[in-house]
Amino acid sequence: MFKISAKIQKINPSETLSITSRAKAMLKAGEDVVILAAGEPDYDTFDVVKDAAIKAIKDGFTKYTPSGGTVSLKEAIRRKLKNENGLDYSLDEIAVSCGAKHSLYNIFQVICNPGDEVIVITPYWLSYPEMITLAGAKTVFVKTTFKDGFKAKIKDIESAITKKTKAIIINSPSNPAGVVYDREDLEKIAKICLKKNILIVSDEIYEKVLFDGKKHISIASLSDDIKRLTIVVNGVSKSYSMTGWRIGYAAGDKDIIKAVVTLQSHSTSNPCSISQAAAECAMNRDLSGEMKKNRLEFQRRRDFIIKELSGEKKIKAFNPAGAFYVFCDISKCGLDSMTFAQKLLDEKKVAVIPGFPFGEDGFIRLSFATDLDTIAKGMKRIKELVNSL
Ligand code: PMP
Ligand code: GLU
Repeated sequence: MFKISAKIQKINPSETLSITSRAKAMLKAGEDVVILAAGEPDYDTFDVVKDAAIKAIKDGFTKYTPSGGTVSLKEAIRRKLKNENGLDYSLDEIAVSCGAKHSLYNIFQVICNPGDEVIVITPYWLSYPEMITLAGAKTVFVKTTFKDGFKAKIKDIESAITKKTKAIIINSPSNPAGVVYDREDLEKIAKICLKKNILIVSDEIYEKVLFDGKKHISIASLSDDIKRLTIVVNGVSKSYSMTGWRIGYAAGDKDIIKAVVTLQSHSTSNPCSISQAAAECAMNRDLSGEMKKNRLEFQRRRDFIIKELSGEKKIKAFNPAGAFYVFCDISKCGLDSMTFAQKLLDEKKVAVIPGFPFGEDGFIRLSFATDLDTIAKGMKRIKELVNSL
């Protein structure tokens, strides 16, 4: 028997990825499973993007690239950040990684020392605390409530700050609750981070999945001072339905980015050359028409779920302003979220993610990154289970 390192023993496998693949295997085996677990858009990668990847292969763009990404992809990212977010970066302030998850992992590795603390707002994307642990640092949670729109109160952030606080993660729109921080919220957070000199890791991966005409605001764009303290993280996974291609990026302080590239040069060497060519195409083309269509479709599905659950007594849905999840309070059902999700899968063949790994055990997360018929079938079954409890 080999003994696994103490560091890895401290972390858990990703529940979002494992439930989704378990449910997909059941579906493949012929079971009538409804999957409301997926953390990826259901529409396919655009054809022009696929063609760009095929061209890259045919042109022999199949060798190592610079560790931090090709110059032409970084140029595309630079343009995107300037035009869409009002953020000016030089190329040495941008690093491309194998997905935003990898960018975040690298960032915590390069900014944290043992004993440092990173503030995470609850409910949170389940990989944050694990990445922070892997970097030897400690996660300090700031609780929020359904009643307060799952938004962190400034006084709670303030009281979570200690001398050891290194950074805070801001994820807007957020996973799992779909919370969108508006300018006023961000200004308040920025002010306190400036006062205490705390880095902001701004995870903007759901930037393009926003509803009701809301506009995305990057906290880094509020002022030059706040930009200096912020590392913006984004990628092509959710915006362009390119989850499998694994391209994400980080933009921020030159020294942090240089350290990320150094770390990457000894781990992945570089993000996949072909995926980089595909991502560059996605970012350079005007795909706004297609993306708008997809966004409106997501909104239609969200509205459907909210309406379906509106009259329910034992399950209460939080209406998301962005991302493609509905976070639902199931605390009145008398089961913890893991048991609830297991029962739902075993008895009703519906896969959802329990709230526990997101830091809210009284909740489940429903993904609406699937077609309306599937969602309708899922809603019916969920209501059946809930009303039988
Ligand atoms: N941040 C959040 C909040 C997410 O939900 C995800 C989902 N995968 C990611 C980052 C990472 O995305 P990716 O690695 O596919 O770019
Ligand atoms: N982020 C997505 C989710 O929350 C994809 C899976 C993952 O990377 O965690 O479901």
